Amino acid sequence: MSRNPGEPFPFARLMEVNEQRPSYPRSLVEMAYEQLLSMLVTMKIPPGAHIGIEALARQLKISQTPIREALTLLEAQKLAYKIPNVGFRAANLLTPEDIDALFEIRLMIEPAMAALAAERASEETLQALVSLSHAMAEAADGNDVAYAQFAEGDARLHHLVATASGNRFIAEAIEGLHVHLHIFRFLVNTNATRKALSEHQVLIDALLARDAAAAEAAMRAHLHASRQRMDSVMTADHEPELPVDDTATAKPSTRRGRPRRKAAATDPAD
Ligand SMILES: [Zn+2]
Repeated sequence: MSRNPGEPFPFARLMEVNEQRPSYPRSLVEMAYEQLLSMLVTMKIPPGAHIGIEALARQLKISQTPIREALTLLEAQKLAYKIPNVGFRAANLLTPEDIDALFEIRLMIEPAMAALAAERASEETLQALVSLSHAMAEAADGNDVAYAQFAEGDARLHHLVATASGNRFIAEAIEGLHVHLHIFRFLVNTNATRKALSEHQVLIDALLARDAAAAEAAMRAHLHASRQRMDSVMTADHEPELPVDDTATAKPSTRRGRPRRKAAATDPAD
């Protein structure tokens, strides 16, 4: 399928999940990007760590050139950065101050954009949102690569809503934050994908109904819930001794094994 030239996520293929696979092999850059993205989003490459290009080339059985190109793309997403004469490092995690600032601006802008989108979105955009949501549902319980694709899908979904508002300057401002991949780095090992899916569904239903007030409320609720998930993770990381009373009955919440946290019970999405 064709992409808008200005689309910031060059390899987000979630929209194409149900389309026929191309008969030609994927480019090596794309393969390197996909693998590196999943390693960075799931923190298999820890924040701040040196990214060894030689070792990666051996591991992925490709040459160093596509890995360097993929890293340049990831640098544009602010997931990696280059130190001259040293090489690439994984981006650090957002600080609590960054998170405060990001959610502050998102809460100011995105609910209002969702309201405008309810009034202005084309039927084509609404159908694209529905398709994307289905593709994200399929990625929600997958492996590390699927998790990274879910994060890209979230970026694309918010991008679609922002663009549908019809104000491209605000849409670009939101995109420039590159916030989604960073948020999903925090939320790896949680049930964030399932929560986000149901919150997105409320939003999409409101957009389909052309209900501006409901779309605004749904976006606000989604952002508040996302913020609360971030806070839960940070609290859990800083208070490892906190007793968790549901471990006797609950299985680990995901395949990656971070224990389920009590705080999830207070999530407004529940
Ligand atoms: Zn979202």
